[in-house]
Amino acid sequence: MTVENILTVDVEDWFHICGVERLIPEGSWPQLESRVTTNTMKIIEVLRKRMVKATFFVLGFVAERHPDLIKEINRAGHEIATHGYAHRRVYEMSPYTFRQDVKKAVSIISAITGYPVKGYRAPEWSIRDDSLWALDILQQEGFEYDSSMAPLPIIGNSDYATIPYRLMLDQGHLWELPPLVGTTPLVNLPLGGGWGLRIFPYNLIRSTILRLNNQGHPAVIFLHPREFDLDNPHIRLPLVLKFVLDARIERTGKRLDRLLDDFSFTSISTVLERVNES
Ligand SMILES: [Zn+2]
Repeated sequence: MTVENILTVDVEDWFHICGVERLIPEGSWPQLESRVTTNTMKIIEVLRKRMVKATFFVLGFVAERHPDLIKEINRAGHEIATHGYAHRRVYEMSPYTFRQDVKKAVSIISAITGYPVKGYRAPEWSIRDDSLWALDILQQEGFEYDSSMAPLPIIGNSDYATIPYRLMLDQGHLWELPPLVGTTPLVNLPLGGGWGLRIFPYNLIRSTILRLNNQGHPAVIFLHPREFDLDNPHIRLPLVLKFVLDARIERTGKRLDRLLDDFSFTSISTVLERVNES
């Protein structure tokens, strides 16, 4: 049986960037030009033509201002999960603030869709060794899965699992869905999205997914609406961040096309339903 891979989209605007709170403070967001609807619709259109369903991790701030976009994603048959409300790194919040951020996002989103939110993805994969407490909060708040722990140096921990697994907690469990990484003797490579998906040779990404699939595991791919926009407003950013956000941005659409040519994709909830049935 062919393994279905997992396609995800973090639904946020071009200015939702971690680590630039001094350049673009949260208070300035409502005044900035919003491009999230146009760019997300480009992704929805690609998926519609391919008849592929995905999981959209919607930022609460975006849902609050663009309820029609959330309805559109829902109407297109995709799964709606959340990316939190204010796009803050988990390890920079207290457990109390984190819980409030997640609850706010969930209440806005579920009021639009009419169904509960089952999944969470932290901005910048920021559930790591100093914020593992967040997993218990997600489980207590009724989440079924999380996709916030990157098996990568710097942003996560290279020792974290590279395949989806059931994470046991004091009061229950959560499914954890790490992003696709390429494992090498030296370092794990970020192949599942962002600059890594755009820069590394496509054949490396393809062979890594094939290897995972041959072992029976799905690969998790993630996209951002701003990666489908060659006219993102210009802001002066540190060079590393500029690279992470913009390097070969024009390739994203082509990479998505090739992935959809070569592999079968679906949403997280569909994959988990099949696991729970078997
Ligand atoms: Zn984000």
